[in-house]
Amino acid sequence: MTEIPKNHPRYESLIAREKIVSGVNRGLTSQQGLTAQGRGEAFDYLIGEKTIASAEHAETAAACLLLLAENPVISVNGNAAALVPKELVELAELTGSKLEVNLFHRTPERVKKIVDELKKYDASCVLGENAEPLLNLDHERAKVERDGIFAADVVFVPLEDGDRCKALTEMEKLVITVDLNPLSRTAQTAHVSIVDNLTRAISNMIQMIPELVLLSKNELWEVIEQYDNKMVLADALEEMKEHLTEKQNELLGIDPTPK
Ligand code: ATP
Ligand code: MG
Repeated sequence: MTEIPKNHPRYESLIAREKIVSGVNRGLTSQQGLTAQGRGEAFDYLIGEKTIASAEHAETAAACLLLLAENPVISVNGNAAALVPKELVELAELTGSKLEVNLFHRTPERVKKIVDELKKYDASCVLGENAEPLLNLDHERAKVERDGIFAADVVFVPLEDGDRCKALTEMEKLVITVDLNPLSRTAQTAHVSIVDNLTRAISNMIQMIPELVLLSKNELWEVIEQYDNKMVLADALEEMKEHLTEKQNELLGIDPTPK
């Protein structure tokens, strides 16, 4: 890895970039994953590289859904495996979720490498190697495991492709995603769209769970009933607008406080 000084203003983002490059070099992440990360970074810049309040609300709703689910599955793609492998294993453990390797650019070698990577962090069981074409999509993109994503009632699919996210919602599953682009088809079709960097989102969810497990099932459902995904997406766009206005004012030396 390239040495990155801790005081660099974009330290976190540069570390993430190094992790994705290492993921590509180790055969976990596809080359297309590099550009996906770049698109995410651009939206992170617009949102101020922080977890906004509505994203934290979405993270809480997502954690509640995973805790309430009968059969939750966390999907892991090449970018997620490069960025947060340890945290994904921990989240699965804390919520009783299965892990399934689920790739857009699928090759058996890459699936195996990601399974092995998650096992390095003590994942007990990782699905994905026996995926069959079970989604209503063309053959390669349709593949999921019969006892994994296909059977799940709640699926957490961070950084998912729009078509596959839609196919999952059409199967009457509750779908959670993480996507920094509130305009992507994935963000707009999932039931819970976390507009936050995957690295922040997963650690926030892990931190919330010890408190959430103390709630009753009814209390967890209340959080979900109050949740409105359209408002969450609209709020993310508003935050981006406000952040841009603030930056524009700074650039022009305009004092934002009204006289
Ligand atoms: P869609 O198919 O949903 O319309 P898309 O074609 O714009 O989306 P994809 O290539 O499917 O994008 O997926 C990449 C998405 O993941 C992008 O929207 C990008 O903003 C987001 N993304 C990439 N890296 C991260 C990250 N680290 N954290 C959060 N979101 C990310
Ligand atoms: Mg997408």
